[in-house]
Amino acid sequence: RTAIVLFTRDLRVHDHPALATSCAAFDRVVPLYVLDPALAGLSPNRTRFLHQSLAALRDALRGRGGDLVVRHGDPVAETIRLAAEVHATGVALSADVSRYARRREQRLRDECARHRLHLRTFPGLTVVEPGALKPGGGDHYRVFSPYHRAWARQAWRDELAPPCRVTLPTGVVAGRLPALPPGESPDAVPGGEDQARRRLTAWLPAQPRYADRHDDMAGDETSRLSPYLRFGCLSPLSVANRVDDRASPFVRQLCWRDFYYQVTDAFPGISTDAYRRGATENWRYDEDALAAWAQGRTGVPVVDAGMRQLRHQGWMHNRARLITAGHLTKSLGLDWRAGVRVFSHWLLDGDVANNSGNWQWVAGTGNDTKPYRGFNPVRQAERYDPDGAYVRRWVPELAAIAGPAVHQPWRLPTPPDGYPPPLEPPGPTPTWLR
Ligand code: FAD
Repeated sequence: RTAIVLFTRDLRVHDHPALATSCAAFDRVVPLYVLDPALAGLSPNRTRFLHQSLAALRDALRGRGGDLVVRHGDPVAETIRLAAEVHATGVALSADVSRYARRREQRLRDECARHRLHLRTFPGLTVVEPGALKPGGGDHYRVFSPYHRAWARQAWRDELAPPCRVTLPTGVVAGRLPALPPGESPDAVPGGEDQARRRLTAWLPAQPRYADRHDDMAGDETSRLSPYLRFGCLSPLSVANRVDDRASPFVRQLCWRDFYYQVTDAFPGISTDAYRRGATENWRYDEDALAAWAQGRTGVPVVDAGMRQLRHQGWMHNRARLITAGHLTKSLGLDWRAGVRVFSHWLLDGDVANNSGNWQWVAGTGNDTKPYRGFNPVRQAERYDPDGAYVRRWVPELAAIAGPAVHQPWRLPTPPDGYPPPLEPPGPTPTWLR
């Protein structure tokens, strides 16, 4: 008996429930990845990372006697076609929550039924499956803290070893991986399960310091595992299991990730529609201000530092994401959806649930229980980059300004050359400039 394992954003062999279960239950397994033209070109950074991760997955599968079969086209049509070629009776897939992924899964389910193929979906993209925890009287958790309490108490599934052997049917043509496409960020980390596992091992000794250091933008001591979690090069469960204390601040961040997955599962319009009923949405439209923000030329140094880090590395520190997103929505009054698009273009870890969920939280249209909280980027900068080192690293025009004065160049007797004055939104002087 033969099964196809359709890989999507679960590009690993360790703790992969769909792969492990199929290898145990079937004589032959065909690992498949379909390069979907509908997803191509969305983000050059992520496309490059994806291709690196596919190459690593192929190597790992070959090392186990198998291979990664690569096809181009519609994933549903290609899976059905391959199933006919190899006489498969089963198809396995990791369940996902975005609207696109769910439509794909539904189409696959319909086509499998038509062709008498048995489709099974598996967990693996989150620690706790979306929908597994429900508050009394609701279909999902709207507020993080009670979700976190339930999540930490929940029994987690067992972590799975990689299959020892992957046995392909004879005569399958694996297909070539296209040449590695260029990304846009010169300092983006490379994709792949081996890279991910190395990064995790190297970072774990710093984990006990996470509580004290994670907000220090210049110190840069967070795990930077997010791109690997985004593409499933690491299982979030196996990351969480490496830390003894489930209530620790680091494991709590993995719970935020699960939280937004279960929100997206219940509210698939998260990237376009305000989540909170009755949210006020009177955004301004100002293409010049949006472009200045996206390019890191707003004239507010900490905001520009964050946006330049994003463009240079395809990644941004979480505190800088909060500051840049708060500046776009709460200081400049621009629509969070525009911010989602810019982040999604550059971020290696950009995904629907976490990107839109966090943007809506900042904009006050999402899960924040205090949606009208004020926002002042200079206060934030003074607190989380007290010496200004993060700004000097990313904004070379300001590199000569010592200490925290770098956060307010407009107060200097001679403003620095080549750096713009702060963008002024219409209306009264914003509090952050007073
Ligand atoms: P660590 O601090 O080491 O945390 C470990 C892991 O926990 C991360 O890798 C990530 O998977 C998860 N995590 C941490 N913080 C959050 C959070 N607030 N929400 C959800 N998961 C979290 N994260 C993404 O993975 N993809 C996105 O598209 C994304 N967009 C964001 C947009 C905005 C406006 C904001 C404010 C945050 C966004 N985040 C997103 C969340 C967070 O900023 C990143 O996950 C984090 O900075 C990644 O760095 P790290 O791996 O070093 O995180």
